[in-house]
Amino acid sequence: MSDDAEDRKVAHQSDVVSPMGTPVCSHCGTPIETTEWFPIITETTESESVVLHSFCDETCQDEWNQS
Ligand SMILES: [Zn+2]
Repeated sequence: MSDDAEDRKVAHQSDVVSPMGTPVCSHCGTPIETTEWFPIITETTESESVVLHSFCDETCQDEWNQS
C-alpha cells in the first residue's frame, strides 16, 4: 500500500463513523480508537440496506463471524 492509499482509507473511515460518532465493537462493545486501523464488515440486510459492523480488532471480528 502506498501512502496515498492510506490517506484515502482514513478519509473513508471518518465518513463511515460520522453519522453515529464513535463506533463501538459489534462483538464486545468496546469504543473503537478510530485513529488506528480497525476491521469493518458490511452486511446487506433483507431490505437491501447496508449495515456496517466495526470491530476493535481481528479477534473480535473472527469471534463475531463464528457466532
Ligand atoms: Zn471487540
